[in-house]
Amino acid sequence: MRVLRNIVILTGAGISAESGIDTFRSSGGLWEQHRVEDVATPEAFVRDPELVLRFYDMRRAAIQTKLPNAAHFALARLAAGWPGAVTVVTQNVDDLHERGGVMSGLIHMHGEHLKAWCTACDGRPVWRGTLIERPACPLCRARALRPDVVWFGEVPYHMDAIHAAVRAADLFVSIGTSGAVYPAAGLVRMAQGRGATTLELNLEASQRSDWFDETRLGAASVLVPAWVDEMLGRAFFERSGTRSDSGTSVSAAEKRGKPKI
Ligand SMILES: [Zn+2]
Repeated sequence: MRVLRNIVILTGAGISAESGIDTFRSSGGLWEQHRVEDVATPEAFVRDPELVLRFYDMRRAAIQTKLPNAAHFALARLAAGWPGAVTVVTQNVDDLHERGGVMSGLIHMHGEHLKAWCTACDGRPVWRGTLIERPACPLCRARALRPDVVWFGEVPYHMDAIHAAVRAADLFVSIGTSGAVYPAAGLVRMAQGRGATTLELNLEASQRSDWFDETRLGAASVLVPAWVDEMLGRAFFERSGTRSDSGTSVSAAEKRGKPKI
């Protein structure tokens, strides 16, 4: 019998789209009329720092006007109510998971809009205002702050912690991600290789849907709360000593030897 205990959830742009946060993928390759290579690469920042800083100042201001949606709130309910570990690995640089109530176990693999990175002292102060005027770092006073987001061509953050969580996962869930960007896209393969059950919740079938044991298609604000209700219902039966129909613990022979989702 394998008990389903540790859950790793990878979230992408699709979970924030219903809060009104778009990405270059959702807007035909352009991001506020800019090509991604003009605003979201280290080369762009060297070539035209003013353009890049202005662009991120605009994005930073915009996300502070957006609100978490039912999917963000549902994941917070799961994190609070699930008896095992819940790790949310997000590719999103907004703070909607935090504002939705995910208090711990949250990893921003692509950085955060609401932090600046000081390339002089490596500090990462919280930042809600603008960077275009080249303000001094509050930690070292150098004028060397940039957005603390991982640009294309840069290495994502916290990969050791992410890999450790994925290796320990019994269930790996991908929510609202196209599956196109590595290394995030490869995490499902790693989870599968370690025997985890894999579930995809997405608006449309992704390029990687065939890598998942199960795919559910629809809006995140509908699919995620429904899935969380299922999981918490299961956890309740487990705690109360009553087996639900599907059960948290299932026989090893079931579903390719994996716990059911
Ligand atoms: Zn500094």
